[in-house]
Amino acid sequence: MQPIPELPDDAAADDAAPRAPTDSVRARVVINCAGLYGDIVESWRPGGGAADGEWRMAHCDSQVGADAAFHITPRKGQFVVLAPPAGATPPRAVLELVPTQFTKGVIVWTTVWGTVVVGPTAEPQTSRDDRRTDEPTVRALIEHGEKCVPALKGATVLGTYAGLRPATEHRDYQIGATPTGGASGWITVAGIRSTGLTAAPGIGEYVAEIYVGLSRDEPPVHVSALGAAGPPPPDGCAVGVTHAACNPEAAPRPAPAVRNAPVPPLATLAADYRARGDGCVRLYGRPRRVTHPIASYGMEAG
Ligand SMILES: Cc1cc2nc3c(=O)[nH]c(=O)nc-3n(C[C@H](O)[C@H](O)[C@H](O)COP(=O)(O)OP(=O)(O)OC[C@H]3O[C@@H](n4cnc5c(N)ncnc54)[C@H](O)[C@@H]3O)c2cc1C
Repeated sequence: MQPIPELPDDAAADDAAPRAPTDSVRARVVINCAGLYGDIVESWRPGGGAADGEWRMAHCDSQVGADAAFHITPRKGQFVVLAPPAGATPPRAVLELVPTQFTKGVIVWTTVWGTVVVGPTAEPQTSRDDRRTDEPTVRALIEHGEKCVPALKGATVLGTYAGLRPATEHRDYQIGATPTGGASGWITVAGIRSTGLTAAPGIGEYVAEIYVGLSRDEPPVHVSALGAAGPPPPDGCAVGVTHAACNPEAAPRPAPAVRNAPVPPLATLAADYRARGDGCVRLYGRPRRVTHPIASYGMEAG
């Protein structure tokens, strides 16, 4: 097996670490969607509502009590990006194992650039910002890729990267509301451990419905994953499926206020990326940094 190139330290810990408010913060409705710090921010949730219908956030430290409703245990996912050997055909399908309760397994897929990605792993850890990749795991990923796609033997390792999922001790997302009357409350949107990208539109609509319920001083529309129960969902919608999603014709969406022009073709973006040399592409009138390794490797390679 070829040597794995010296990996850059991609564990830049520049994430927003939780910052307790230096003074009281007042808000009628607070939405906790702090990802890896969701349990810490949740610990800031006050025990009761303020008389004037506004929350008052107390000073706090970063300790999450054992009796908290959920605790975040970051679940690292490592990936390796490969350039198939010359003449080898990269897989045309996304190769995915049968999922288990814990993980959907390591996937092998071909990017729009013709590079092949193998990952992610699922490794629980305590650190909320350590995104380093490690050599034994990267080697195991390469072996897995070669096992699934023998044509990858001798592939060049272009790079590696890792991300952290905000997993909790619960299998399900932790989404729910704590209404306090007076049109105020706290909405929890935490433990989005995986598939959050895919679920984001549904979660967004669901949270919007909870917010509307709170701000009208009504119980949440849906049964909350945290245990607060409201009336049954309208029109037989399943929990987490919004009324609008169930009834697209009954609730037509308003036309968007801003319509962006289509995104330029990848080849145009890649040419711009290489010409600029500052790690950005120009999109909708201003430079946008290309942060994902798959995209930057692809644009560098053309
Ligand atoms: C390895 C891996 C595999 C994945 N696989 C899939 C997949 O197959 N399908 C899929 O759909 N999705 C996938 N995802 C996406 C995953 O579900 C997301 O990580 C999840 O969506 C997290 O979303 P979030 O909004 O809860 O958190 P984040 O996107 O992390 O957002 C939280 C935000 O809160 C901010 N924040 C935190 N604390 C504070 C504070 N104190 N003050 C102010 N701001 C704060 C953070 O800066 C951040 O911007 C994967 C992710 C990883 C890492």
